[in-house]
Amino acid sequence: MRTSQFPLNTIKEIPADAEIVSHKLMLRAGLIRKLAAGLYTWLPLGLRVLRKAENIVREEMDRSGALEVLMPVVQPGELWQESGRWDEFGPELCRFKDRHERDFCLGPTHEEIITDLVRSEIKSYKQLPVNYYQIQTKFRDEIRPRFGVMRAREFLMKDAYSFHLEAESLQETYDRMYETYSRIFERLGLRFRAVLADTGAIGGSKSHEFHVLADSGEDAIAFSDRSEYAANIEMAEAVAPFETRKPASRPMEKVATPGKTSIAEVAEFLKVPPENIVKAIAVMIGKRDLDREWEEFCLLLLRGDHELNEVKAGKILGGFRLATDDEIEQHMGCRAGYIGPVQMSGAKGVVNVVADRAVPPMSDFVCGANEKGFHLTGVNWDRDQQAPKHVHDLRKVTEGDPSPDGKGSLRIARGIEVGHIFQLGSKYSEAMQATVLNEEGKSQVLVMGCYGIGVSRVVAAAIEQNHDERGIIWPQALAPYQVALAPINMHTSERLKQVAEHLYRSFRNEGIEVLFDDRKARPGVMFADLELIGIPHRVVVSERLLESNQAEYKGRQDADAIQIPLEEVVPFIR
Ligand code: ATP
Ligand code: MG
Ligand code: MG
Ligand code: MG
Repeated sequence: MRTSQFPLNTIKEIPADAEIVSHKLMLRAGLIRKLAAGLYTWLPLGLRVLRKAENIVREEMDRSGALEVLMPVVQPGELWQESGRWDEFGPELCRFKDRHERDFCLGPTHEEIITDLVRSEIKSYKQLPVNYYQIQTKFRDEIRPRFGVMRAREFLMKDAYSFHLEAESLQETYDRMYETYSRIFERLGLRFRAVLADTGAIGGSKSHEFHVLADSGEDAIAFSDRSEYAANIEMAEAVAPFETRKPASRPMEKVATPGKTSIAEVAEFLKVPPENIVKAIAVMIGKRDLDREWEEFCLLLLRGDHELNEVKAGKILGGFRLATDDEIEQHMGCRAGYIGPVQMSGAKGVVNVVADRAVPPMSDFVCGANEKGFHLTGVNWDRDQQAPKHVHDLRKVTEGDPSPDGKGSLRIARGIEVGHIFQLGSKYSEAMQATVLNEEGKSQVLVMGCYGIGVSRVVAAAIEQNHDERGIIWPQALAPYQVALAPINMHTSERLKQVAEHLYRSFRNEGIEVLFDDRKARPGVMFADLELIGIPHRVVVSERLLESNQAEYKGRQDADAIQIPLEEVVPFIR
């Protein structure tokens, strides 16, 4: 491609809302332009990079045996009602009505749509397992769209959904996706780490996030310096030992609250401000600092839209792992209850909210329901000992803490979540009745996994990891062009022009993607642009160099240029 036909939209001024380096560079290099908050147009140069990322993802998904489909962005509300998420999903879900007053939404993810497809297309266990994927636009009305395409409202995601008869088969596909993701991020040339992540689903289901390591990352990850242990920090905090504080004095009471299941009702009955209950819940689930999203969630509870008994891992809160009985016992000395960000459901499927997980100033708060129809007050009371009990403070995980696996100590780094794999179990297939006939001819509910990669986010993440003060340094696999050909003052020398044109043709004949800077621009301007847009190899030809039949070569990261005989330029780069 010639820059005379391919306008480089490089700019000097950076809009004030561009906070991180990838956002700034994507604007300066002319890869993207903002349309509105969280909405971006990909310019030709940026789109080439996005497509490269997309193709690597597609190739590796195909290689894994997954099947590509393409589902609509617009989704009928009915399916979301069926799964229960129409009410559970917060304002990130963009809902609207069509001209017939029917509910629709813009897909933030596609579990409902694929489950609907599979329940009608897959009839027999013989057709399983199956893994469908798509590379499709998603819309999430993010509360704080920022960092350009890193946290956009409209973005490109690769999402895959696998269906199985049994958990073992799900585990196999999950492991294959884990390997596939590792290959993808390796091929993209990124430094990444797979970490344990919250599942949000009930049961022993599993989840890993893939993080690109970068200081600007919005997530913190904790990993052991002496073992394979690596986890999202929330996950690490969930299993971290709690600190113990002085007991409060008030005895704990069990109060019957028959039929009172919403927070508002319970609060009224117990004569405590509902905010306290909400705050207590927030603390117990590990959200000490309520952000707006969580405030909204708590308000939802306050309005009594949900039964308190529903406040359990995954059902409404999402994102919290179930504690094992042993963990509960170890931390609480009893075998039922929530502990901190770790939760479990108590006996008879009724949710227990912790009795002894209070954090100042929430000591002695009211919580429930320990049993259906009962709540507890004065929570720092040890029922067995009939004495005040020590209060465990939620513990921040910090650098140097012991690793939860007992091997080494924890280090903390920032990461950008670029991928997420998940064992969903039967959450959607059960709610939406996705079943097949098993070997015995009986109907059996499917188990399901889902696997996402933020394709557009990957592009920004790559820049966060690969740049210098002059601009982007593309990893080979993402570079929009491999070589920049920059002749100096070509328009004043016919001989130079012929040499440059010849080189251009030679690169193209070799299938090397080359950007021919044939503008009438000063060398300084040319070089600055080519470095800003991050082309890995630069070849300069000039009248002076021609005298000794040489060209000048400089890799994007090299300190100095070297001279190479003209006829060796193409083989050198190839
Ligand atoms: P985050 O924690 O960053 O909000 P998420 O956990 O909500 O992401 P998932 O539902 O796991 O996201 O979606 C799969 C992938 O889609 C993520 O791993 C991420 O790479 C990408 N992604 C999610 N939200 C956005 C967004 N607003 N803009 C760009 N990419 C996104
Ligand atoms: Mg999100
Ligand atoms: Mg996340
Ligand atoms: Mg995620």
